[in-house]
Amino acid sequence: MNVDRLIEKSRGAEWFVKDEIVEMLAYPPASWEAAALMAEARRVSAEVAENKVEIHGQFALDLAPCGRNCDWCSFAAHNEVFNSQWQLPAEDAVAFALKFEAEGANAVLTMTTADYPFGKLLDIARDIRRHIKPETPLIANTGDTTLTQAKQMKDAGFDGVYHAVRLDEGRRNRIEPRKRLDTIRNHQEAGLWVGTCVEPVGPEHTNDELAEMILFTASISPAFSGAARRIPVPNTSLAEYGIISELRMAQIVAATRLAMPRITRGNCTHEPCTLGAVAGANLFWAEIGANPRDDQEKTEQNRGKDVEKCREIYWETGCEVLSGPSRHFTQAPMPIAPSRGYLQPRVAQV
Ligand code: SF4
Repeated sequence: MNVDRLIEKSRGAEWFVKDEIVEMLAYPPASWEAAALMAEARRVSAEVAENKVEIHGQFALDLAPCGRNCDWCSFAAHNEVFNSQWQLPAEDAVAFALKFEAEGANAVLTMTTADYPFGKLLDIARDIRRHIKPETPLIANTGDTTLTQAKQMKDAGFDGVYHAVRLDEGRRNRIEPRKRLDTIRNHQEAGLWVGTCVEPVGPEHTNDELAEMILFTASISPAFSGAARRIPVPNTSLAEYGIISELRMAQIVAATRLAMPRITRGNCTHEPCTLGAVAGANLFWAEIGANPRDDQEKTEQNRGKDVEKCREIYWETGCEVLSGPSRHFTQAPMPIAPSRGYLQPRVAQV
């Protein structure tokens, strides 16, 4: 199949099989074929999201050495990147949420390390929910949860979660891929929207692996999927592998958009960049506090972008930022019943 046929299939909103996604990923990133696929992905993103893009505001509720020891993460205990640890006071969490809302973020996201106290997460969610607008989606990025816990998160005021089966899950950390998958099911069964991503992509990942993970994310009917490259944080054990270029990441962002069902509106990339938006990314995150890709405690003073910067990047690419609450979440496909089953990513079998 050539690129014209791939684009023709996309125009017809047809499903892509693994070999076709591998083909999309196999073109040299600087080729006209890759550029054509990026343009088509941007067209699809604009079509499904009414020509609007989104910025979500994410802040960390804690900084702590994490025993799950994901090799790529600056919080991993064995990477020994940070010397200090802290938990954000509830009043600061509310202040950050209100700040993001005032700056025009379309959703607010709290991020924790895996062992953050679950009761405290619920308490802070209730606090934030009491203060932000009822229509502003509140999203969690936290550790694995049971169905009971997922329902408690929903009751506490969360509308959705970011959760992913990461590339190399179970191989380069201490988390069973099955557990990540079960958590996604639990969230969806509890009525929480799930956004996900193909991440963290490194130079060593093959097109086969990426295509399988793209198809896995499609199989969960997410509020958004997308792609994010791995940032080589100094002193982390994967830093020596290096990084893929923004152009290669944009190519993966495009392939992911084309392979998602059209009911999935969102297509994320991280970190925010013009090439990602050109290739169909319509979700960026602004960040405050610690993050797993940075060795500075306040990422807003280093790698992290604020809402204004994200807006500027979108402007450079001719994208218009949505005003008001996220539609990626509020108009996302209803969570599917776990009984429908999901694809099993290859990493789930290691
Ligand atoms: S990515 Fe999450 S689970 Fe893994 S070490 Fe970092 S904080 Fe822990």
